[in-house]
Amino acid sequence: MPESLSAAHILAEKIDREGPIPLSEYIGIANASYYASKDPIGEDGDFVTAPEISQMFGELIGIWLSDLWLRKGSPDHVHYVELGPGRGTLAADARRAMAKFGCDPQVHFVETSPVLKTKQAALHTSAAWHESIDSLPTDAPLMIVANEFFDALPVEQFVSTQAGWRRHMVARDRNKFIAIPGTQTIENQVSKSSAGLPNGTILESSPASSQLFEKLAGRLAKQGGVILVIDYGYDRPGTGSTLQAVKDHLPISPFDSPGTSDLTAHVNFHSLANIAKTRLLSVHGPAEQGQWLKALGIDQRAKKLAERAPKQAGSIRAAHHRLTHLDEMGRLFRVMAATSMEWPEPEGFVYGES
Ligand code: SAH
Repeated sequence: MPESLSAAHILAEKIDREGPIPLSEYIGIANASYYASKDPIGEDGDFVTAPEISQMFGELIGIWLSDLWLRKGSPDHVHYVELGPGRGTLAADARRAMAKFGCDPQVHFVETSPVLKTKQAALHTSAAWHESIDSLPTDAPLMIVANEFFDALPVEQFVSTQAGWRRHMVARDRNKFIAIPGTQTIENQVSKSSAGLPNGTILESSPASSQLFEKLAGRLAKQGGVILVIDYGYDRPGTGSTLQAVKDHLPISPFDSPGTSDLTAHVNFHSLANIAKTRLLSVHGPAEQGQWLKALGIDQRAKKLAERAPKQAGSIRAAHHRLTHLDEMGRLFRVMAATSMEWPEPEGFVYGES
């Protein structure tokens, strides 16, 4: 049976057996099956990510990391960690750039998808793979990169009803999955400032992201280093659902055929920044991706590449546009870094520290 059928099947059986399940559980099961079953990235997949658009993206991240590493005094022993490295393209471009500066860290990939692990292994023979962040080494500073990783982690939602706040649950209505308010009261999990919001208001959070980020921040505080998070998201807490599903580059309902579409939600950078600060890390950004890439020199890099390969000048210009323009990935995508106390201030954050 194809994986896609089995996600819908597993979810249907579970709901028939146990009753409605929390939205976060639904997303977790659907996405685990989705990523395990195929490589969804690229023009012939469901979505395209920045490193697949142009080598410039990974290269600039590699230069950004090298700069930090050099200013830290070029420590011999340091680990490059990537969360959800996809096809391994970002890491390949970043490592090539880092090598030019003599920066050659040990490579660790946190990845659960067997299909994507195989793709990563084709480009990175000496990497170590981890099913979770718990097995990452504890002996040296970590340089952690996460591009479009946190958006794939489950969110949960609370919805305001006449009877008070309720958790969003997923139920079955005939053969369809639907979101309904749960029956249990959860007032104590919703902050007081949410009192009085109109019925139907949705509050979203990602306990999975918070827990993971909390652990990583703790590691950085202890071991030293930096984390770079790039994703679509928001800087201030807000209301409303940001859950979305994409299949064949088109939006579909998150409740249609789970396991066959990419379920994501916007990343709450405000919450990640607060977690970092409680661990006494310095937070830089979030900046808009376009501004950050420009501050790192993407305009000059694009010009240079086009001069070297005039036949590709058009596609280089198009990639530059896609990565930086406000109507493309330039504004929706945010870049945030958190550094441990004794690491230098990273480049590119035109907005300065938040
Ligand atoms: N960073 C890559 C891929 C983004 S897609 C790029 O920019 O191209 C999301 C990635 O996260 C995939 O590699 C997926 O397999 C991985 N992933 C999703 N959920 C995960 C989880 N819970 N643990 C580890 N990896 C996960």
